[in-house]
Order: sequence, then structure tokens, then C-alpha cells
Amino acid sequence: MKNLLKRKIERLYKMDRESDRYRICLNDGVEFMANDRREKHCCPECADEYNNEKKRLAKLELQQTILDTENALSENIEQINNEEKNLKILDKLQLKELGSTYNMDYLHSIGFDFFSFNGKGPLFNIEPQLNCHFIQIGSYRIYRVEFSQVLIKKII
Ligand SMILES: [Zn+2]
Repeated sequence: MKNLLKRKIERLYKMDRESDRYRICLNDGVEFMANDRREKHCCPECADEYNNEKKRLAKLELQQTILDTENALSENIEQINNEEKNLKILDKLQLKELGSTYNMDYLHSIGFDFFSFNGKGPLFNIEPQLNCHFIQIGSYRIYRVEFSQVLIKKII
């Protein structure tokens, strides 16, 4: 940012871009010769402004991190709630010993969420490159057996 408040600092050195005292102000890009080799800003106002801006950005970044963490937590909570809801639905189904098939639309209609599960595993009877999995919710395993049909089996 262009600093309009800046004081004229008496510079002891003549402008020389080859010199190791040559600087470009980090705040407003003004060229200057450093009186003190540690100088990085053309004037104290620029130093203040630059450091305040840095603090402001750090604070913003921290706030964003906090926000991201809160969002991740509430997503986790939602996920856990959905898994519990799924489990309640599964507990009510009358499953046969070897599992029962259900229509996915029907399960959707009673509130089942196919994206909320606590585990998944590969299917061994299908080519691995097809990347097919069953999902697991509690002690239930759910296999997609047809386009809109799943087989639900209670293990253990
Ligand atoms: Zn400056």
C-alpha cells in the first residue's frame, strides 16, 4: 500500500542499485538506501503498516483455520448422526440369515444415507480394477447386487 503519511528520512547514502544498502521498501515498493543494514522499509510508517498488515493477515489465517476446524467437526458430527440413523434403520429390517435384498430407493425413502458408513472392504468375487466395495455400518454389510438392489447381511 502506498504510504501517504510517510516522513522524509534523511538518507546518508546516494542511490546505488549495485550497493548492498540498496532496498525496495517491502510496504510500498519505494527504492531507498538503507542507513542501517537491517532496514527493510523506507520509513517507520511503512514499517508499522507492513507489520500491522502481516499481523492482520496472520489473524485472518488463524480465524480461517478455526472456521475450517469447526466445519470439519460439524461434518464429523453430521456423519456420526447419519451413521446412527442408518444403524437404527438397519436394526428394524427383518433380515434373513444369509441376508436380504432391498431396493435402494426404498431405503432412501426411509432415510437411509448410503454415504454414511464406518467401513468398507473390497469385493473378492469381482475384478479388483472395478474397485467395488461393500460398506459396513455397525455389524451390517451392504453389497450392491444390482443397479438398484443391495444385499444387506448381518455379520457376527
Ligand atoms: Zn515505504
